Amino acid sequence: MKKINRAIFLDRDGTLIEEKNYLSNKNEIIFLDKVIDGLKLLQKKYLLIIVTNQSGVARGYFDENKVVEINNEINERLLRNNVIITDVYYCPHYKNGCVKKYSIDCNCRKPKTGMIDAAKKKYNIDLSNSFVIGDKDSDIILAKNAGCKSILIENKNYINKEIPNNKCKNILEAANIILNSESSE
Ligand SMILES: [Mg+2]
Ligand SMILES: [Zn+2]
Repeated sequence: MKKINRAIFLDRDGTLIEEKNYLSNKNEIIFLDKVIDGLKLLQKKYLLIIVTNQSGVARGYFDENKVVEINNEINERLLRNNVIITDVYYCPHYKNGCVKKYSIDCNCRKPKTGMIDAAKKKYNIDLSNSFVIGDKDSDIILAKNAGCKSILIENKNYINKEIPNNKCKNILEAANIILNSESSE
């Protein structure tokens, strides 16, 4: 029988690294506080999968190669700290973009579940025991749409309206909430 996995679906900008609004320079990657410590705990029991909206591609700010380059740089820096990211999914689309190829109403732009659906299929993920960690309402709605639990990373520059399962300051705090909720089951 195929192994059933649980996953942590991680938003990228504003959750793992500082929000730079359409980041396109890998020298501007700055990991947020306690990210590495939190991911080290989580990876013992969960697959770590990044799910990120990168509409800068559809808006013509940068191309897909740039997104991949930045994602790879993030993965490499994490790997140097012994954190393994199992996979990265990104959505380059935006309905009202200006690059024709990407300016579509896709099914992968969060809060739609296309990225999680693809990961579920590839890695046999039990979504009801998986989590989305993110800093925006779209991450919280994504979790609801996909049948996962949600944890909001509080961000001073963003006022969130949706109600997550939990809120916290950083990923280490999120990891502790997740791992403690398990042991009490
Ligand atoms: Mg974000
Ligand atoms: Zn998309």
